[in-house]
Amino acid sequence: MSEIKYDRQTRIPKWDQNKISNAKIAVIGAGALGNHVCLGLIGLGVGSIKIFDYDEIENHNLNRQSLFREEDIGQNKAESLAELLKERNSSIEIIGIDEKIEEDTIEDIIRDVDVIIDCVDLIYVRNILNKFCIESNIPLIHGGISWTGGQTGILTRKTPCIKCIYPDALQKEELDTETSCIRNPEASVVYISQIIAGLMVYNVRKVLLPLPSDLEASSGLLKLDLRLENPFYFEKIKRKKKCDCVKLLKKVAPGILKKEKEILKKIEKENLKELQKTVEKSNEEKFKKESTSIKKKTSEKSEKSKKSKKSDTTKNNSKKTTKSK
Ligand SMILES: [Zn+2]
Repeated sequence: MSEIKYDRQTRIPKWDQNKISNAKIAVIGAGALGNHVCLGLIGLGVGSIKIFDYDEIENHNLNRQSLFREEDIGQNKAESLAELLKERNSSIEIIGIDEKIEEDTIEDIIRDVDVIIDCVDLIYVRNILNKFCIESNIPLIHGGISWTGGQTGILTRKTPCIKCIYPDALQKEELDTETSCIRNPEASVVYISQIIAGLMVYNVRKVLLPLPSDLEASSGLLKLDLRLENPFYFEKIKRKKKCDCVKLLKKVAPGILKKEKEILKKIEKENLKELQKTVEKSNEEKFKKESTSIKKKTSEKSEKSKKSKKSDTTKNNSKKTTKSK
């Protein structure tokens, strides 16, 4: 049954549906991103999905949170989304959980998952997910949207973290649990959620089933800005030296930081070598140019002096001839 259901994607070279079908995913947030991400996940055919959200569906959600219907207004978002998804794909285990993610409960409520997907609008929750994913060594698929664009990235122990991406925002609002679109509604539009959610699902596939056609793994964000002529671009991110992830990694995986330092040193060394080569080459070219110019000037001078000597001899000869007359 599932072989037929996912037939078209299994025709992609090196596709291994088992790797996807065995995967357990946690989706945090059942809003605009959460709706479209979950729709993508059931299309991929992941093994199980746990959706977390403690919010209720409201009328103004319906134009962006595409799966919800008018009759769902007032229901919990996570539970409703789970039910609606089950109607579309009954072979996947889907559970909706009406619970708030908190630092002291996250370990108990999110257990045994392969990937966590960040579809939240609370900076506070994003911060908790960040810490939990580093500690538990679970890849975090980050997604964020505005009305003109958005971004997504795969964050692991080996990459910079959420705090490396938003250091200022988190310092200011770290403990502000109310900084949310509930209190501060931002402009938002459905097509941005659809595009970014699609790219987030693509990142999930990359984590579960890397394919030879994938771009080489690199720490960065795939960004969309519809105001640009080329709206999609990749932005590299760097680990901030004083970020919390550095303190955490020192405790849970110091080897990663050591390796990063070694790689950085190697890159610096290579860059220095390249710089030296460029300087040497430029000096060599300068020397060549100067010696060619000197040679040219010397040859011109000698040519001039030859000519002037020749002219003098001719004049003298002419004088002699005149005198003899
Ligand atoms: Zn960090």
